[in-house]
Amino acid sequence: MIPQTEVVRQSTESMPAECREPAPGPGWQQSLVNVIRDLDELLTALQLSPDRAPYDLSHCRDFPLRVPREFVARMQPGNWHDPLLLQVLPLARELAYQPGFEADPLGEASANPVPGLIHKYRGRVLVIVSGGCGIHCRYCFRRHFPYAENNPGRADWEGMLDYIRADTSIHEVILSGGDPLVASNRLLADLVRQLAAIPHLQTLRVHTRLPIVIPQRVDPDCLAWLTTSRLKPVVVVHANHANEIDSNVRGALLRLRAAGVTTLNQAVLLAGVNDSLEQLIALSEQLFDAGTLPYYLHLLDRVDGAADFDVPEHRAIELVQGMLANLPGYLVPRLVREVAGAASKIPLPAWQ
Ligand SMILES: *Cc1c(COP(=O)(O)O)cnc(C)c1O
Ligand code: SF4
Repeated sequence: MIPQTEVVRQSTESMPAECREPAPGPGWQQSLVNVIRDLDELLTALQLSPDRAPYDLSHCRDFPLRVPREFVARMQPGNWHDPLLLQVLPLARELAYQPGFEADPLGEASANPVPGLIHKYRGRVLVIVSGGCGIHCRYCFRRHFPYAENNPGRADWEGMLDYIRADTSIHEVILSGGDPLVASNRLLADLVRQLAAIPHLQTLRVHTRLPIVIPQRVDPDCLAWLTTSRLKPVVVVHANHANEIDSNVRGALLRLRAAGVTTLNQAVLLAGVNDSLEQLIALSEQLFDAGTLPYYLHLLDRVDGAADFDVPEHRAIELVQGMLANLPGYLVPRLVREVAGAASKIPLPAWQ
């Protein structure tokens, strides 16, 4: 569902000024097309010179650079270690093979009964609405998933809907991807209408990073399809660092809340990005200020190419213990790891 039309690309020369604007201007679809895909353009926008890079940069072809200008605007110019930049910057070291890190660490390929649907946990299914994302996160556990075979257009919906209709134990559908909000409101409204007609479904959940990276995605039509069906709406966003939540993002999250959507956040614990007590506390507080509670803090999945973001388990537990000692319980996310074949995500015993 990535828009195929090439809208006029902004020129590199005029970039920095535009890039730093918090973008009340372009519509979200234009922002999706207008993302930065070129490493030099990104570095120029941040006043960084490639010859001074403290690490080896690469142009990854299998998972290219992709970063919305709204997200770049929240990065600190001149800082190679900016926690938002590190999430999107392709480094040569990610190409090196890491033992124990595999292409499908979660065993999703075997829980994929019909194209576009993953059924791993009782009571809920994950539906891949779009293979594309607004942003490419280097640590992503889905980076090797065969999206090309799992990018159901309307033509493939019947198989997926039939599967859900036939299993009355399914009460919740999670729209996922990629990022489901890359799809148009018209398509999503249509899908939700068909899901709402399945009597045993109760909850509509959306897993998305777009309200964080392109907050104007949360527009009136989006709120309409989310909140006008009989299904209870839940939106789980994905922010890893407090700097990701600027006033536009806060506005988007508060709009969701005001419309009656339960809003939660999942973060991934990432070395160099958010693996300090101070950063994790700031993230929880910033989320709460935007009406959103922390839900999961994921230990990194062992996906090829992401080993450099790995935080050892004992350190992760220590960090969550620190959060427990400093925050109200509702601002402490559950630290979890995904284990192929398990009945749920596995919580780590941070209280011991
Ligand atoms: C994470 C996930 C879910 C949702 O799990 P919750 O614990 O309910 O948030 C559902 N299906 C799949 C395949 C998942 O990876
Ligand atoms: S699926 Fe989520 S984490 Fe992965 S690249 Fe897309 S937005 Fe980033």
